[in-house]
Amino acid sequence: MHLEAQADDQTFRDEVQDFLAGHLTPELRQAGQRTMGICSPHEASQAWQKILYAKGWAAPSWPVEYGGTGWTAMQRHIFATESHLADAPLLAPMGLEMVGPAIMGHGSAEQQASYLPRILSAQDSWCQGYSEPGSGSDLASLQCQAIRDGDDYIINGSKIWTTHAQYANRMFCLVRTDTSGKPQQGITFLLLNMDSPGVKVEPIITMAGNHEVNQVFFDAVRVPRQNRVGAENDGWTVAKYLLEFERGGRGWGARLRGALANLHRLAEARGIATGTFARRLAALATDVTAVEFTEQRVIAELAKSGRIGPASSLLKTRAGTVLQAISECSVEAIGNYAAPYQPEASQWGSNVEAIGRDDELAVVGRYLDQRARSIAGGSNEVQRNIMAKLVLGM
Ligand SMILES: Cc1cc2nc3c(=O)[nH]c(=O)nc-3n(C[C@H](O)[C@H](O)[C@H](O)COP(=O)(O)OP(=O)(O)OC[C@H]3O[C@@H](n4cnc5c(N)ncnc54)[C@H](O)[C@@H]3O)c2cc1C
Repeated sequence: MHLEAQADDQTFRDEVQDFLAGHLTPELRQAGQRTMGICSPHEASQAWQKILYAKGWAAPSWPVEYGGTGWTAMQRHIFATESHLADAPLLAPMGLEMVGPAIMGHGSAEQQASYLPRILSAQDSWCQGYSEPGSGSDLASLQCQAIRDGDDYIINGSKIWTTHAQYANRMFCLVRTDTSGKPQQGITFLLLNMDSPGVKVEPIITMAGNHEVNQVFFDAVRVPRQNRVGAENDGWTVAKYLLEFERGGRGWGARLRGALANLHRLAEARGIATGTFARRLAALATDVTAVEFTEQRVIAELAKSGRIGPASSLLKTRAGTVLQAISECSVEAIGNYAAPYQPEASQWGSNVEAIGRDDELAVVGRYLDQRARSIAGGSNEVQRNIMAKLVLGM
């Protein structure tokens, strides 16, 4: 594992910076700047992915045979960091970083040929149907039922906290196909079309004022058997594999680097990047560096064994905590300008004039949204249980 930048890496960084300067329009940069949740506004995120796809850069971490870039770990890190520093829109991770790798690892050749190109080109948008009312941390207790009927499954039940279900045309989901053995043994992994008859999406508005998550209801929804990934009742294996990518494959270090640079800008603009505040900025910079190193370790493990492994829980927990600390500090940096509630002005594309600086508009929304990082993708407490068991052997 080499973390030092090589001479070639500087050439690569220059190439990335040139590309970003040439392709990120002011509108796309505004979408990046105003991102509060897990990804940027849907239209901006799709538009940016299509630009990256045209360049062959949409999925740097995918194997080359599926359309990846063949970059080194350092090049991927440079690309992600420069993208964050340039305020590029955040791409939706559900296709590229979650179901994509799961289909590569566990899908049939037909599924790989059918779904992967559409994920890469942003033709399809995906959402994740894992959690249910009553089944979050204890995911294996899920109840959403699928019964075999000839060549179809028929699904009845509900999923909750489904990020961007309102935009998705496809969902990957876990369903209960057997209740006789251990809960983990009766789960199946299915891919379904969101326009299937019987699917209903109800919005849930978060305290940040965003419509990011939803509850999805299934009323006798038919899903063809060929949309199953892995064997019937073996969905837990696929689900866990995918979760490692969800927790560990997210370019956390680059995201934190971008958030830290943004915090510096905010503090300098308000003239408070000195004294005690400067010490806090330095402490956060150390935390960010530590996450970057942890991430490189996880990437090295992936290259060696093909698995991200349980260290993804460490990365997700630590990165989420540092991201929250940066968002808290950002609110303090803008002082009284955190107080005005201006949801219209902070929307992407809005021309309502901001109270305060334009780049301060998303600070409070992001702070509120970041509270969810302790829960989303598996709560911190549960991640610590996983680390205790699988990393420390306790
Ligand atoms: C913003 C956001 C987006 C999300 N997007 C999606 C999505 O797209 N798709 C999807 O399927 N899910 C999604 N989720 C759901 C997420 O995965 C769950 O919220 C999470 O797994 C926790 O489950 P829960 O909400 O049921 O909380 P619970 O499991 O009820 O937990 C409540 C509290 O109890 C603690 N706790 C529970 N069990 C233990 C234990 N064994 N030991 C110690 N403490 C414990 C937890 O840490 C937590 O603090 C999202 C959640 C959020 C907040």
